Amino acid sequence: MGYVDVHCHLGDEAFNDDLDEVILRARKAGLVAIITSSLSIEDAQKTLGILKRYRGFVYRTVGLDYTVLEEGLVDEVARYIEQNRNTIIGIGEVGLDYYLVRGEDRRIQRKIFSFWIEYSKGMDLPIIVHSRSAGRYALEMLFEHRAERVLMHAFDGRSSLARRAAERGYYFSIPPSIARSIQKQKLVKALPLENILLETDSPVLAPEKGVRNEPANVRISASWIAKIKGVPLESVVEVTYGNARALFEVDFGAARLKGAEAT
Ligand SMILES: [Zn+2]
Repeated sequence: MGYVDVHCHLGDEAFNDDLDEVILRARKAGLVAIITSSLSIEDAQKTLGILKRYRGFVYRTVGLDYTVLEEGLVDEVARYIEQNRNTIIGIGEVGLDYYLVRGEDRRIQRKIFSFWIEYSKGMDLPIIVHSRSAGRYALEMLFEHRAERVLMHAFDGRSSLARRAAERGYYFSIPPSIARSIQKQKLVKALPLENILLETDSPVLAPEKGVRNEPANVRISASWIAKIKGVPLESVVEVTYGNARALFEVDFGAARLKGAEAT
């Protein structure tokens, strides 16, 4: 048992020079697993290398940047996922971003997101959802498609909506930026601990704005959650660890994927 960072980007160039040290600090901080997410084919190829280097400690999900609206690229990533299925534990991140994408492009973005929702169901893998300034719309689509294995990452919508999603068994991962976000603090207050996971979204969403984030900082998310919920830190670690196992169906820390060995 230990901390699991369920969402970050180790393939980001911010980690090109010192990934070994970043991983070492994460291990020393008590993490038992890191789930890195890729946003393109190139990124996915890079994360496969990272997965092999830190076997049994780093896991991955594969998705496509939500601002990329080319359906040909969507097909390409879907094919990549099928070809590399035994090294992938989730689809994402994918989703909607109404901050960056406006007007008619949002329709294409929704169409692509619909595809990924159905795809994740077909593959029986959890979907990791980005929903910047579009929390309500993303959740409505997930409800409509009857998605079940869902992780809403860095959710910036209303707490009342999050509660409705939690009733359906959806999970919400909390980044270290909770240290400077009243909205995230409210979110934690509103959600049962049974629906909460820890993430960093490294290299972004650090406790201090503009500073590089790293997986060891999940401890900051966990201590804020403990404080808000009025429970011991150990309980947060134990429950969020159990939640991560339940969502991904992976025995984190045991270096073994359910049903398939990491290659
Ligand atoms: Zn992310």
